[in-house]
Amino acid sequence: MDKQTEFVLRTLEERDLRFVRLWFTDVLGFLKSVAIAPAELEAAFAEGIGFDGSAIEGFARVHESDMLAKPDPATFQVLPWRAEAPGTARMFCDILQTDGTPSFADPRYVLKRTLAKASDLGFTFYTHPEIEFYLFDKHPATGERPSPIDHGGYFDHTIHGAGHDFRRHAITMLESMGISVEYSHHEGGPGQQEIDLRYADALSTADNIMTFRMVMKEVGLEQGVFASFMPKPFTEHPGSAMHTHLSLFEGDRNAFYEAGAEYQLSKVGRAFIAGLLKHSAEITAVTNQWVNSYKRLWGGGEAPAYICWGHNNRSALVRVPMYKPTKGQSTRVEVRSIDSACNPYLAYALLLAAGLKGIDEGYELPPGAEDDVWSLSSSERRALGIDPLPQNLAEAIALMERSELAAETLGEHVFDFFLRNKRREWEEYRMQVTPFELDRYLPVL
Ligand code: GLU
Ligand code: MG
Ligand code: MG
Repeated sequence: MDKQTEFVLRTLEERDLRFVRLWFTDVLGFLKSVAIAPAELEAAFAEGIGFDGSAIEGFARVHESDMLAKPDPATFQVLPWRAEAPGTARMFCDILQTDGTPSFADPRYVLKRTLAKASDLGFTFYTHPEIEFYLFDKHPATGERPSPIDHGGYFDHTIHGAGHDFRRHAITMLESMGISVEYSHHEGGPGQQEIDLRYADALSTADNIMTFRMVMKEVGLEQGVFASFMPKPFTEHPGSAMHTHLSLFEGDRNAFYEAGAEYQLSKVGRAFIAGLLKHSAEITAVTNQWVNSYKRLWGGGEAPAYICWGHNNRSALVRVPMYKPTKGQSTRVEVRSIDSACNPYLAYALLLAAGLKGIDEGYELPPGAEDDVWSLSSSERRALGIDPLPQNLAEAIALMERSELAAETLGEHVFDFFLRNKRREWEEYRMQVTPFELDRYLPVL
């Protein structure tokens, strides 16, 4: 038995933990959980716990439905909202087929496979997400407008704001689960919050994002508010992004850093950004996977709608932040399109694959955009070679369908399932008659 497994079994006993939740993620990014008794754990570590994969979104067809969930002992944590004895712990799982090989449907495996490619090239991939979300008074009833918990704006220090208590409590819980938080503040919309996680390897970050969403929901329940990661709940307020800072390390050397270069950005860093830009439109269906995601991208509020990069330009899709004049090891690129409701495993796999492709094929980085690209006319943008991101889910799907990079990175199973599912979402949406149309047309037509 290895050390980690031993630690898990010992902790269960010492802390009187009677339930162990095995967590995994479906293709659309929803968390799945099955609780097992500690007595089952040794078997779970050895060969996994069987479940019906055909009941999980995107996992298996009915005729090959048996799958195994095998917990990763390195992800063991006690759930702080279930810490009183008899307590509950959780571990993330890898999903296996019955012959013990990894399941192609498992988003965690998709990311692991892409990380292995990076590692073959000598790179470790680090990510650091800034997660935005809204807090509402309660879960709105069908058709009811959500009501935010405050009227604050960016960095506002709201007096007696429920947001403070919420963030304090939420961050304490995250820290107790080994998830370090760097910053937190009120975001631009009323009731909108942002919590930034410290950078970590991308697999840990993706696991942490799944945990983060669960913790926000739990703290919300405790405090009588409702946390939502919906990309754009209000027409007139900013949406919720999940800006992610990306970097590649070779050993303990930041591969994006080059002293003296423009923005201290190495050749590897420039090619990585070029890859992100070149492939951004074809992977947007994954980084921004809902009909509603496109209301954010095209709804202003500092969301990027055009494919360009910049240094201190918040309208750019990719930004090279430079908070300190000498930042050395912290050189990184920030992707601003991705939203808080994506599947983080799939989205990070695709961002990494796009960047690696740029490095592999030596893509040239086009000049940076230092203007506010929203204020340019479309012919000015065209003259600068700045293309738009897809304007809606249908356009994003059409681009993804032709993407070799997406097919290769996601693997045939996830690629096909994802597209089928998203086409259905679009078809359901496009026949809806919306309040906009009723308000606009009934009075005059
Ligand atoms: N909420 C904005 C968005 O949807 C981002 C605000 C920020 O720059 O942090 O992209
Ligand atoms: Mg923000
Ligand atoms: Mg940011």
